[in-house]
Parts: sequence; C-alpha cells; structure tokens
Amino acid sequence: MEPSSATVAAYSPCGSTAAVCRAVAEGTGLAWDERDLARGTRPEPVDPGTLVVLGAPVAGGAVPALGLERLGRVHTAFSPCVLVCAYGDRDPGHGLHDLEAIAPGLGLVPVAAVLAPVRHVMVPALGAGRPTADDLAAYRSFGAAVASALRDAGGLFDLAPPPLPPASCPRERLELGFTAECDPAACVGCGACAGACPAGCIPADEPYLTDTARCDGCMACIGVCPVRARSLSDPARLAAVRERCTAGWEGPHRPRLVMGA
Ligand code: SF4
Ligand code: SF4
Repeated sequence: MEPSSATVAAYSPCGSTAAVCRAVAEGTGLAWDERDLARGTRPEPVDPGTLVVLGAPVAGGAVPALGLERLGRVHTAFSPCVLVCAYGDRDPGHGLHDLEAIAPGLGLVPVAAVLAPVRHVMVPALGAGRPTADDLAAYRSFGAAVASALRDAGGLFDLAPPPLPPASCPRERLELGFTAECDPAACVGCGACAGACPAGCIPADEPYLTDTARCDGCMACIGVCPVRARSLSDPARLAAVRERCTAGWEGPHRPRLVMGA
C-alpha cells in the first residue's frame, strides 16, 4: 500500500516529541501536515490511509492522562501509524505501550515505533541538546524505511505489528506532584505561558496566576517564559529528585526504532 500523505499528530507541550515526529514524517518523502494536540480540543479527522505519526512524551513512567485524552482527538480508519514515545533520556517507562493501547480506538494500525531520548524537562543534566542532529537524521532515515516497507507491502495488514521493547514499569503513573508557579514581580505579562499551557490553567488576562489543581507540571510555561518568572513548586524536593535521577544515569541512550517484518 502507498500512503497518499502523512500527518504528525503529537501531544508535545514542550516541543521535543513534535520535533522527533516531524523528522519521521520528513523522512517518508510524503507530503505531510501537523496537528498540535497539546493546544485546542476540537476533533482531528484524518483521511483513511494517511500515515499517522502519533507522538507523546512520558512523565512519571507513562503518557500523562491529559496527553492520552488529547490524542483521542484523532480519528481515522485503517491508517498505518508510527508510534513515537519521547522520554527524558533516562527511563521510557510504559509510554510506547500506552500509545499502542489507544491506537486501535483511533482507527490506527501501528506498523513501526520509536523510543526517542530527548531533553529531560525536569532534570537538565539528562538528554541536554536532544534530539541532536544525529538523532534527527536517524529518525528521517527510519521514516524513509517505513515508507518503503509500506510501498512494498501488499496490504496494510501484511506488515506485522512492531515488536515493542518491553515496558520498564507497570502502567501506574508516578505522580511527582510538582506544579508551576509564577513570580508576579518578574512577570511582564507577555502571555506566552498562557498560550503554551496544554491544560488551560493560566488565564490569558492574568498570566501570573496558575490553577494548580489542573497543572500537571509539564513545564511548557516555564520553557517559554522570556524572563524566567515561572518555576516548579517545591525547589528543595525538586533538587532531591534531580539528584536521584542523575545518580547512576546510564545514558545517553540511542534511539530505538522498530518495525514489523
Ligand atoms: S501551568 Fe502547569 S500544565 Fe500549564 S504549562 Fe505550566 S506546568 Fe504545564
Ligand atoms: S511567559 Fe512569563 S513573563 Fe510572559 S506572561 Fe507568562 S509568566 Fe509572565
């Protein structure tokens, strides 16, 4: 089968997952578009037969609940799919298996999967600068290989499901309990954080506030703030988490790219 086009459908609050997905889509050589599942809530219909690059990050060992909910905006039928799970170059947890579990309900048939080490949003020492140029080149090459395998296959179901690497933990997500907070004295009111927040917990007209009950600590707002007015709550505990995550780090990891035969 030959997909007519590709679509990147990524829940990517901080941008790394989407960068990996785009590289895979570029590599296919197909015309492609992109759906930003971190922002907006409307359904995202995809033409049947389109190659979908479905991506989400891992946090606390699993794809965040909000991410799974937003990926649920995609609906199609019998579309081949590349599953992309980005993780902070330490532990991919259960993320790829979370994506595999929701794919059939979206009308997707996984034919390939990517475990992508990226910059760790909470622990800057891990995965710094990733995805690197070499990482992205590997994802482009893999996209080309996936497109070639699909062209060579007689039908969508002639390709075996991708053999996913085993999950490193059960599905139960570890709730880290950090939320974002803002120093109102430093805030210049640019509104970038409100636009970046996938959970809608920063009011556009009062961006120095945060609805912490809905904040899941994704850090998108912290990354876009031009004056560093935003940070995670509980700095002492954050420092302890960073120390624990850095101790015994076995990275940098290589991207893992798998495809059904
Ligand atoms: S307020 Fe919370 S959920 Fe919203 S972007 Fe910041 S860290 Fe993420
Ligand atoms: S991004 Fe930073 S400066 Fe801009 S509104 Fe948000 S907290 Fe204020």
